[in-house]
Amino acid sequence: MPGRNRYQAYTLANFRAIPQMERLSEEMKFDIEVVGRVLPFKTNNFVVEQLIDWERVPDDPMFILTFPQRDMLSPEHYEEIAGLLRSGADAAAIRMAANRIRLQLNPHPAGQSSRNIPTLEGESLDGMQHKYRETVLFFPSQGQTCHAYCSFCFRWPQFVGMSDFKFASREVDRLIDYLRAHPEVSDLLLTGGDPLIMSARNLAQYLEPLLDARLPNLRRIRIGTKALSYWPYRFLSDEDAPDLLALFGKVARSGVQLALMAHFNHPRELEPEPVRQAIARVRESGAVIRTQSPLLRHVNDDPALWARMWNEQVNLGCVPYYMFLSRDTGAQHYFGLPIVRAWEIFRQAYQRVSGLCRTVRGPSMSAGAGKVQMLGVSEVNGEKLMVLRFLQGRNPDWVHRPFFAQYDEKATWLDELRPAFGESRFFYEEEAGDGPHAPLQEHAERAALRLRNIPPAGAERTPWSCG
Ligand SMILES: *Cc1c(COP(=O)(O)O)cnc(C)c1O
Repeated sequence: MPGRNRYQAYTLANFRAIPQMERLSEEMKFDIEVVGRVLPFKTNNFVVEQLIDWERVPDDPMFILTFPQRDMLSPEHYEEIAGLLRSGADAAAIRMAANRIRLQLNPHPAGQSSRNIPTLEGESLDGMQHKYRETVLFFPSQGQTCHAYCSFCFRWPQFVGMSDFKFASREVDRLIDYLRAHPEVSDLLLTGGDPLIMSARNLAQYLEPLLDARLPNLRRIRIGTKALSYWPYRFLSDEDAPDLLALFGKVARSGVQLALMAHFNHPRELEPEPVRQAIARVRESGAVIRTQSPLLRHVNDDPALWARMWNEQVNLGCVPYYMFLSRDTGAQHYFGLPIVRAWEIFRQAYQRVSGLCRTVRGPSMSAGAGKVQMLGVSEVNGEKLMVLRFLQGRNPDWVHRPFFAQYDEKATWLDELRPAFGESRFFYEEEAGDGPHAPLQEHAERAALRLRNIPPAGAERTPWSCG
């Protein structure tokens, strides 16, 4: 037996060797194989041994978070793949069917792959997105996997080889040129995948040139990561853990703030001793930890759980940042909650925590136009309304202007909402023309198609590869 802190990945190829699989029926293992053909599946020995409560499987939230579940596919999609597997179809046929199904799961929500790609001197910059004035996203090519995959992941297409998004090369010079040309950018967000899958040496090849460039506008470097939860040994006992922490310290001492944008979806993830130690080490390095999570049915749709999670995060010195609504992609029908219900959960949780936990904002939808927060339900002149506002907008002037939608307790995403007071568009849709701020009719059609699992027109033209 290798040590507990030696990383062991489990995928479709070897998950049956996990000792705890003996507890599962053959039927459940088959479900994992079926759904795992369509949605990404990878877990590891820490998740299996220290996060999942096998006494509570199949209802255990950490199990649901990391293992494919039958209901994550529609019955028709499930049957299609199951039939192929049962009949011994070859790998190519299964892959083709899986890709056809994937295209029906809205693989590029909010124009993930094609929009917001910045240009410099007329050339588009691969591996970058610049949507909000202050913050540039950078996807380092070696950081595009994770220690384990979340079953809800909105970037799932890139893990099944069907994203047309090009990741940044090792080359960091173009990024530096872009940041120099854009003094309005104060924040750089390294994201993925999980950039902390990279060795300290690889990560240093991005961070050190950025520091050496001494860009006066670059004040913060953020790293989006799930490593604190899924592989805390990254900061404790991996061979290069000391180098990684030293690198964090170097950034912090340079005067640029380093923030880990840590994903924690359930308070259980904060319990294992290695996680608590890893949080302490990161904080000692001078980095700040901010936390975020989507609200997920079957995993964390309970206000008491969120209150516990935010409290514990603050106890450990982390700063609660965002609660998201799960995006309109992949298995959203399984994880998604109505916007109104999400607000109730947020409000009930927020009411019972101290002010130090109330740095969190939400529930928020990351849509094409920006991050939209559901502020609450209200009534004006007898009309029941939903009140919303932008926390981030493609146009900075949209931010913090309350706007109103007709009350809809079933709607799960922004594009299902109708403007209140009989208006035909939301205020931000006036500036339509190039994308997601499309006329209402198109929103309605898209929502209806999604309910019937039919790809919208144009979806089949999305370039993709069957990796
Ligand atoms: C959330 C997000 C950011 C960062 O926004 P902050 O409000 O500064 O945290 C940047 N780019 C995109 C595309 C985002 O979704």
